[in-house]
Amino acid sequence: MDYRDLPIRDDLRELTPYGAPQIDVPYPLNTNENPYGPPPELVADLAEAVSTAATTLNRYPDRDATDLRKDLADYLGHGVTVRNVWAANGSNEVLQQILQVFGGPGRSAIGFEPSYSMHRLIALATATEWISGLREGDYTLDAAKAVAAIERHQPSVVFLTSPNNPTGTAMDLDVIRAVAKAADQVGAMVVVDEAYFEFARPGTPSALTLLPENPRLIVTRTMSKAFAMAGARVGYLAADPAVIDALLLVRLPYHLSALTQAAARTALKHVDALLGTVDAVKAQRDRIVAELTALGLPVVPSDANFVFFGVPGGDQKALWQKVLGHGVLIRDVGIPGMLRVTAGTESETTAFLDALKESLAVMEGES
Ligand SMILES: *Cc1c(COP(=O)(O)O)cnc(C)c1O
Repeated sequence: MDYRDLPIRDDLRELTPYGAPQIDVPYPLNTNENPYGPPPELVADLAEAVSTAATTLNRYPDRDATDLRKDLADYLGHGVTVRNVWAANGSNEVLQQILQVFGGPGRSAIGFEPSYSMHRLIALATATEWISGLREGDYTLDAAKAVAAIERHQPSVVFLTSPNNPTGTAMDLDVIRAVAKAADQVGAMVVVDEAYFEFARPGTPSALTLLPENPRLIVTRTMSKAFAMAGARVGYLAADPAVIDALLLVRLPYHLSALTQAAARTALKHVDALLGTVDAVKAQRDRIVAELTALGLPVVPSDANFVFFGVPGGDQKALWQKVLGHGVLIRDVGIPGMLRVTAGTESETTAFLDALKESLAVMEGES
C-alpha cells in the first residue's frame, strides 16, 4: 500500500522525508560529523556511566534533566545558568519543540535560504507555514532586506543559522541584532542555530552574547558536530527562562532517556579532549578551501567543518557521482552547480581532494 492512501494530513502530502544518503563508503564526508571517534578514556567512562544508569532503568529519568542542563550551562559560559538551558534528543528535537510552541496552524516561520533544510521541514511538519527568505549572491544575509521580510510577513519564528549550513559562513552579530530587533517589533521568536559554532574562525562572537537584552532570542547548539556525539542524539538551547517554561508545555514526559543524560554528562567531562579534535578538523577545512581555490573553484568562506564550493561547468550531479566512484561520499544539497564536503581526517581529506582532481580531469576530457 502507498502511504498516501492512508488518511495522512493533507498538508503533508507534498512533503518528502529528510534523506541525506546513508551509503556505506570508505569516506563518508556528507553529514558534517566529526571524523574522530570519542577518545578511549571517554569510551571507558561512557561504559561505566551507562552501566551505573542501567541499575535504575526501572525508574523514569529526571524529567527536567537538571544536572545535564547545569553542565551544559557551565560549558556555554556567558552568564548562562541551568534556568536558561534546555536539552533534547538532538537539536532537531529542540527545534521541533520550539515550533510546536511558537509555530503551528495559522502561523508562519521564515528562514533565509539556502540554509539548514530541517528548519523548513520541521516547520511544515508542525503545520507552520514556511516563508523562504533570500540571501545575497555570495550567500550573506542583508540585514535591511531581512528586516523588510520580517515586517512584511510578520512570522512567529525567524530562523538564522550561524555558521550557516550548507554555505559555511558565520553571520555578523550586527545582522543578528537587526533581525532580533525587527522580530521583537512583530512579536516573533528568533532562533539562531549555532550547530557549528565551535568551528568558527577566531574572533567570531556567539549570539549568546545577545541573550541578556533579547528575551525572544533562542540560541541552539548540538553535541552532534564538534563534540563527536552524533550517535548519542543530544541537542540543547539557551534562552530566557520563560522560553524554557513554554517548552515544558509540549515536551513529552521523560523525553531524554537516563542513558542519554548519563552519556551527555560524561562527554562534557571530556570537553577538552573532544574539542581538541576541532583544531585538526579546522586545519583540514582550511586546507580544502586553499586547495579548491588553487584549482580555480569558487569557494565560500567557512566557519564550519565543511566547505561549499562551485563545480566547473555547473553539473554538480555528475561530479558528485564521479567522486562517489572513488568511495568518497559528499553532499549535493540541490543547489545547481554547488557541492558541500565535510572536512575529515587528514587522510580522508586527501582521498577527497585526489578523487575531486581525478573526477574533474575526467569531466574535462568528456566535455
Ligand atoms: C547538523 C545540524 C544540526 C544538528 O542536528 P542534531 O539533531 O543535533 O544532530 C542542527 N542544525 C544544523 C544547521 C545542522 O547542520
